Amino acid sequence: MIVGQAKRYLRPATIAEAVQALKEANGLGRPLAGGTDIIVDVREGRRVVDVLVDVKAIPELTMVDFDPARGLRIGAAVPCFRLSEDAMLRRAYPGLIDAASLIGGIQIQNRATLGGNLCTSSPAADSAPILLALGATCVIAGPDGERRVPLDRFFVGPRRNILGESDLLIALELPPPLPGAGSAYLRFIPRNEMDIAVVGAGVWLRVEGETIVDARVGIGAVAPTPLLVDAASRALIGRPATRETFEAAAAEARAAASPITDMRGSAHQRRHLIGVMTRRAIERAVERAREDQR
Ligand SMILES: Cc1cc2nc3c(=O)[nH]c(=O)nc-3n(C[C@H](O)[C@H](O)[C@H](O)COP(=O)(O)OP(=O)(O)OC[C@H]3O[C@@H](n4cnc5c(N)ncnc54)[C@H](O)[C@@H]3O)c2cc1C
Repeated sequence: MIVGQAKRYLRPATIAEAVQALKEANGLGRPLAGGTDIIVDVREGRRVVDVLVDVKAIPELTMVDFDPARGLRIGAAVPCFRLSEDAMLRRAYPGLIDAASLIGGIQIQNRATLGGNLCTSSPAADSAPILLALGATCVIAGPDGERRVPLDRFFVGPRRNILGESDLLIALELPPPLPGAGSAYLRFIPRNEMDIAVVGAGVWLRVEGETIVDARVGIGAVAPTPLLVDAASRALIGRPATRETFEAAAAEARAAASPITDMRGSAHQRRHLIGVMTRRAIERAVERAREDQR
């Protein structure tokens, strides 16, 4: 198999073998999941890679395990389409399915994984804001064993994360769905077809009666990394589910943003849009939370 300019392609069957292969590659090895980012990077010379370590034959990385009491564990190499076609997950984590079903088109979703999306660590990665809002934890394996890291400590800069050269993201863990909770992910793109988010907003919240009793807000494409905006969450928690409350949280998302100007949009436009998309994502999450209460 010829993959870009990489010299070797390996398909280990266990986590230990994959970690060992990456270790032996001395910084010139890369995991390969769906390949929708890494193959492009290698072909275009953005990354020098000697060894591609395909992680799709490792059972822990390809399983989806959902238990309403324990929560959801998604293997890092599970393609997005496997999530978006699952009716139970759509009901339990609708915001996650919003994101999984808009990453690229159908062909991309057949290959692309949430693990790969997070490990690329683009500030605009569509899965990041909603996984932050859902309280995801990363399960990571490396030469010293396994560790768990909350997703809000995973990203360290544009296209940079905490993974070491021989580390593998194994899975993402999400807390169990709660009664009266709803989630939503919305992004703005300049064209009505495949493109990278100009801004993205992910919201998880829980409603009791007319009051929002818990909430988390994640934003993307408006800072060097995807961000969990605690101030926006605080603006929602304990407040009535009204337009005024939503606007207050949206204002906090705008304040947390430090966007850049690029070919997709100006910093000014991004700052405005993150407020709009955050408010709309909150509204949608509240609607879903109310449906869940019925
Ligand atoms: C046409 C097109 C449209 C796209 N549209 C979107 C879009 O709308 N939204 C969006 O967010 N992205 C989009 N992308 C980018 C890409 O598809 C996603 O980022 C995708 O989720 C990456 O997943 P993957 O499995 O293909 O990753 P890969 O390409 O296999 O890997 C990506 C990176 O993560 C590393 N990696 C992969 N798995 C692991 C692991 N388990 N542990 C450690 N490191 C790992 C790889 O070494 C590589 O650096 C698009 C890409 C294309 C080509």
